Amino acid sequence: MNDFKPKFVKPADTSSFLEKNEPFTIDTSNFIYNRHISQSIQTQRQRLPIFNNRNHILYLLEKYQTLVLVGETGCGKSTQIPQYMIEAEWPGQIGICEPRRVAAISLASRVADETGTLVQQEYVGYAVRFDACYNKPKIKYMTEGILLREMMSDPLLKNYSAIMLDEAHERSLYTDILMGLMKKILKRRKELRLIIASATLDAKEFQEFFNNNPTSDNKKDTAVILSVEGRQFPVDIFYVVEPVPCYVQASVDAVLKINSSKEHGDILVFLTGQEEVDRAVRLLNEHANLIEETQKTGKLMVVPMYGSLPYHEQLKVFKPPPNGYRKVVVATNVAETSVTIPGIVHVIDCGFVKMKWYNTETHTDSLVVLPISKSSANQRAGRAGRVRSGKVYRLYTEEYFSKLAENTPPEMVRSNLTYAVLQIKALGIDNILKFNFPSPPPVQNLKSALEILYALDAIDIQGELTRPLGFHMAEFSLDPLYTKVLLSSGEFECSEEILTIIAMLQIETVFTKPSSGNFSIKARVQKRLFEVEEGDLITYLNVYNGFIESEMSQGFCHKNFLSYKSLKRVVEIRRRLEKMLINYDVPIISCIRSTETIRKCLVKGLFPNAAYLHRSGVYKTIRGDTELFVHPDSVLYTIPQPQWLLFCEVVHTTKLYMRDLTVIESDWLLEFAPHFYHKTTFYE
Ligand code: ADP
Ligand code: MG
Repeated sequence: MNDFKPKFVKPADTSSFLEKNEPFTIDTSNFIYNRHISQSIQTQRQRLPIFNNRNHILYLLEKYQTLVLVGETGCGKSTQIPQYMIEAEWPGQIGICEPRRVAAISLASRVADETGTLVQQEYVGYAVRFDACYNKPKIKYMTEGILLREMMSDPLLKNYSAIMLDEAHERSLYTDILMGLMKKILKRRKELRLIIASATLDAKEFQEFFNNNPTSDNKKDTAVILSVEGRQFPVDIFYVVEPVPCYVQASVDAVLKINSSKEHGDILVFLTGQEEVDRAVRLLNEHANLIEETQKTGKLMVVPMYGSLPYHEQLKVFKPPPNGYRKVVVATNVAETSVTIPGIVHVIDCGFVKMKWYNTETHTDSLVVLPISKSSANQRAGRAGRVRSGKVYRLYTEEYFSKLAENTPPEMVRSNLTYAVLQIKALGIDNILKFNFPSPPPVQNLKSALEILYALDAIDIQGELTRPLGFHMAEFSLDPLYTKVLLSSGEFECSEEILTIIAMLQIETVFTKPSSGNFSIKARVQKRLFEVEEGDLITYLNVYNGFIESEMSQGFCHKNFLSYKSLKRVVEIRRRLEKMLINYDVPIISCIRSTETIRKCLVKGLFPNAAYLHRSGVYKTIRGDTELFVHPDSVLYTIPQPQWLLFCEVVHTTKLYMRDLTVIESDWLLEFAPHFYHKTTFYE
């Protein structure tokens, strides 16, 4: 393995990066690592770069309807602005929309800590999918989807006096949709304020979008930009000399190399997804255990960080390591801008990111691992310079960096819009093609969304939402295909089973993947006990039922290489989905293991995701003729391949791989989705 070790060089000229981040002039020589614990929280708040702008921000919010606020990640936008407003006795609620659930929760708990209050009480709270707050906190952190759903019952957002759209630079699908909708609401409610918080400098575009009085009219602007001077220490950049064959292994090696160099400071590693993060954490923990047994110094505390990690696990990354330990956070892109982890001095950047990309042929978003953009690479590097000068180790060559795109395209132009279109329609906006988006999506994607919604009976031939189905589907916080399956499960008399399956699909995976050869064989053998030839979804059902029969025992999970925490979360999600179904008067019935009933019910909603085995031996989509492959993790990978199947997700690596499969029969497609699949489409 030795020759896999990355060799880093520092390029001769890093000025382009350093110029942007002028060193901050305080004496860092006596800067104590982890000093933040001993500082009182109020002093900490006053030390944030944004504090110098406190009064100016409050002034601008009085004068202008929209404030576009630009400031480095960590300068205090998300946690401080709402507090300043409340301190200035701003009336009503302040809502802060985060693209990620993890950010909403961790910000609320941070503000609670800063103010000595409790989360989910009257001062600060959060609302995320499957976990709402039931009172009306003055400061409410939420995911964007929550605000969108609130608009359905309160179209002018009367409860709020200000809304902040956070992380606007990420250009998530829902940030863009909310921008379009907020533009309309602001015209109707002159007293409402909007704050667009962004970590990068492309603010002009936002300001122009929200300025209701373009300068040529000689009237006062309604939107203004404020840039907060960042406090960023210089960051040295290192590149690998040769491309690395496996960036997970290379990142592990780089961590160990930094650790053995005895340089102080915590390490943040960027990988692309949960599986990679878990793998790196396992490898690092093996080394950490060895160090623990044999050495007095250089001990490591390794923590993972990704969006689907349970809440209390996520909080671990913010805790300082015990004395004598160095913290290593292995994260997905969530750590790029949405959460700020204290103490980071070294960053290891794999150079890739997992991104959604809509494929109009398969009608699904594929998760694609793609090279990051230059601006992402610089954001990641910036994470190293927050407490003192830092270092970033890029696991790619300098030449590779020079070829990266400048920016990542907004999610709006590369996503499945089915659910978004459904929700916008539920807000009474009929002509989607004319809606004012900050970056209009391709018409092709919009049309494809409308077609699917029509096939699901969510809209009628005029494009209007159907009652009650279309409206119910818009209110549900799930992909409309899954909602359709859930809402149909009463008729099929298998809602107990469908609830379990849909809940299981909300978690990336419940199977743990041991890295050592012996255990990974054992894990595979154990998994076989649950596997059935009907596919992965029925297998998940077996896993869940086994867990419940074991009375949710940790021993059962341990023996079967299942994640206890993930399964507990599935139980919780299932409970919430069940409550929702009861609200919609769907009877909760079990079909007592008739998998045919369950599979038919799945076809009722998932039919756009059907594939068949072509005579050439590869799967193809029925309408688009796109080639698809069975994912190696699927239970169908090793058994004779069925003629027809449904998939839930497509992952794009070297090929398009279908995940979460269910075996079906072609007749069912004709029976339950006749308008989507005509006989002619089948046999042409
Ligand atoms: P921004 O939104 O500008 O990126 P934040 O308001 O999220 O900045 O964070 C401001 C500061 O608060 C950070 O620099 C960090 O020091 C601290 N902070 C934020 N969240 C936490 C947390 N959960 N635990 C400890 N410190 C935090
Ligand atoms: Mg923030």
